[in-house]
Amino acid sequence: MKYIVLFGVLLVVYLVWRHQRRTEGSGTPPAPAQPAALAQDMVRCPVCALHLPRAEAVAGGDGRFYCSPEHRVAP
Ligand SMILES: [Zn+2]
Repeated sequence: MKYIVLFGVLLVVYLVWRHQRRTEGSGTPPAPAQPAALAQDMVRCPVCALHLPRAEAVAGGDGRFYCSPEHRVAP
């Protein structure tokens, strides 16, 4: 019976020590990442007024961005 109590105490001490090491080792938490939708630049197609991320837009020669190649060549 004595050994069971001793084992329980050692187990609790080990778990607390491991938990403290984990929290100390992480250091300062990294800055929360912004959602991709907010971080991306949104552009508006001048033909159909559709808003889309700049990475998915088609760049026109006049510096504007379009939703598709069809709208880029549209008058
Ligand atoms: Zn469009």
